[in-house]
Amino acid sequence: MPKNSSHTPEHPSIRVSRRGANRLREGHVWVYRSDLLDDKAAPGALVRVTDERGKPLGMALYSSSSQIAIRMISSNPVHDLAALLRRRIADAVSYREKLVRNTDSYRVIFSEADFLPGLIVDRYNDILSLQILTQAMDSEDARHAILSEVVEQFHPAGIAERVDARVRELESLPPRNSGLIEGEKSRTTINMNGLRFHYDAAEGQKTGAFLDQRENYAATMGYAHGEALDVFCYQGGFALHLANSCSRVTGVDSSRPALEIADQNATLNGRDIEWIEANAFDLLKDYASAGRQYDTIVLDPPAFAKSKRNLETALRGYKELNLRAMKMLRPGGVLVTCSCSYHVSEAEFLAMIAGAAADSHRQARIIEKRGQAMDHPILATVPETAYLKCVILTVS
Ligand code: SAH
Repeated sequence: MPKNSSHTPEHPSIRVSRRGANRLREGHVWVYRSDLLDDKAAPGALVRVTDERGKPLGMALYSSSSQIAIRMISSNPVHDLAALLRRRIADAVSYREKLVRNTDSYRVIFSEADFLPGLIVDRYNDILSLQILTQAMDSEDARHAILSEVVEQFHPAGIAERVDARVRELESLPPRNSGLIEGEKSRTTINMNGLRFHYDAAEGQKTGAFLDQRENYAATMGYAHGEALDVFCYQGGFALHLANSCSRVTGVDSSRPALEIADQNATLNGRDIEWIEANAFDLLKDYASAGRQYDTIVLDPPAFAKSKRNLETALRGYKELNLRAMKMLRPGGVLVTCSCSYHVSEAEFLAMIAGAAADSHRQARIIEKRGQAMDHPILATVPETAYLKCVILTVS
């Protein structure tokens, strides 16, 4: 911690309440607007943060409109933000070089978890996908530093920006279009766990593929067998992996465009998979009452709980799906069940699974409790960086 905050007189100073200061001392990196004692910096400014008495707490990136007014960037004085951003990007890259295996596609930068709040960069083989989520990261200087560093690190054939219109609105940033911002190439083939997938920076949801599930796909391959059902299959992430060890694989999703790409992915890998366009809730209900049985079922629904407010409804949704899946599994069958809602804690998710097991009159044994792949680091002091749950069970 800086002893003397006069090192950075050029940066405005913002005082935070006792509650805000305690949060920072516990290692969190956010201060909410309601915890600011003064609020007078320019949008996206680099600011000095102090406690009520003016004692320095570090440097932060300020947002003039988000509820998260302050995102800490350093506990030391920062003189050259662009240089700091470049150094942090280089650190994030070497972290992945140490940990990421069996893929040319992974998350290179995960916002707060890489000490780069408001920045997400994913690598899809020779294409980078970039997301900017805050005023500070959207500044011309920050964009320039980010782009020049990632180009130097990866020499990508294309860089695409994925714009979240709602986030830009919340940050009072002018609208922008998604699309290529550097290079010519927006389509490629990615490789993970020995399989290949089409990637198109111009299409798809989220960042185009679910990189956070990569290690869970690999783990699933170790247990999957017999007849398999991949529910909420999107472009076939789990289904393709299931096809390595299962005799029959069916993927279900309500999105036809996702299933078309899933089918192209199956062809690319020489696999024969059946794709069904349906509402998963209706299909599971019909299949369960028709007495259909499977040996392996994957449930990977979209985030049902978008906020704490709809937690109850979300848990009911998860339970319905898990209950039906357990009923349809043959003895010794495998259930891979996921939730990507941050608002559903692991404990709540496990309690939901227990409820589903009891109500379906099945014994469920947990083989593995898993989370997001290592390229989506979890910062111990920032619980919001942990969001994905993936539980693998055997049902008898
Ligand atoms: N398992 C996928 C990711 C799933 S994302 C992978 O590993 O790549 C969630 C998916 O659920 C999306 O593809 C979305 O189209 C689909 N979806 C959302 N609501 C649905 C519903 N009610 N029935 C079926 N699919 C649904």
